[in-house]
Amino acid sequence: MQKINELQLAKELIRFPTITPLDAGVMKFLEKKLKKLGFKTKLLEFKEKNFKPVKNLYARLGTKGPNFCYAGHLDVVPPGNIKDWTINPFKPSVKNNHLIGRGANDMKSSVAAFVSAVSSFLSKNQKFNGSISLLITGDEEGDAINGTKKVVEYLKKRKEKINFCLVGEPTNPNKLGEMIKIGRRGSLTGKLIIFGLQGHVAYPSRSNNPSTIIINILKELKDIKFDKGTKDFQPTNLEVTRININNTADNVIPAIAEATFNIRFNNNHSSTSLKKKT
Ligand SMILES: [Zn+2]
Repeated sequence: MQKINELQLAKELIRFPTITPLDAGVMKFLEKKLKKLGFKTKLLEFKEKNFKPVKNLYARLGTKGPNFCYAGHLDVVPPGNIKDWTINPFKPSVKNNHLIGRGANDMKSSVAAFVSAVSSFLSKNQKFNGSISLLITGDEEGDAINGTKKVVEYLKKRKEKINFCLVGEPTNPNKLGEMIKIGRRGSLTGKLIIFGLQGHVAYPSRSNNPSTIIINILKELKDIKFDKGTKDFQPTNLEVTRININNTADNVIPAIAEATFNIRFNNNHSSTSLKKKT
């Protein structure tokens, strides 16, 4: 079994200009590599009205459980102004021991490392208990409608089980390897719209000020103690991110007040349980 060099593969992956939702042929390229390593592969293109179709790849080596899955994405965000780059972002190069190119960090190098790690594992272990799989999407930086979510639905239908999952998303603020996260907190955004009754500030009894109501509700929401945190996560927290009372007059009680809040929640909650609570 030939070992795959991760830097070489990372460079090859970066050469595909895969700005979401463009595939540019990268999934087929990776599929070929994985087939050579013995993987059974499935290219999955998902479509939905009003969204561009996206290609995803699921590959599995072995049929037994447990199934260890590497998850990642091969799409990248747009490079911005090309003139601001020291190189063409889709012609990667190594400078001062750093790989430069769009996706070098987030996260084509991780995908290359997955494949390289598997090839080096297989060179030492022809037989092993369980399966190794890769779930690679092209829809992480975009709408995330036709990506991993749909692949998981597809796998569920086929009763294909993933027991462990490693996501190669870069999380190290300063240097490689300083941080490994166990899962990720959930995020729930809530919008609050209070319809009051407009009126003159001089006659408050004839109106109903939605700003008073929204302040009280937001205070109550902010005061909720969701939990004390868990072994792996900090306490669930709610932050008000926007309060909007679109009023141009100083002497008018507004008709509508709007607010947005976001909850970052740990594994004590789900978006459904939080919706019930709040
Ligand atoms: Zn990413």
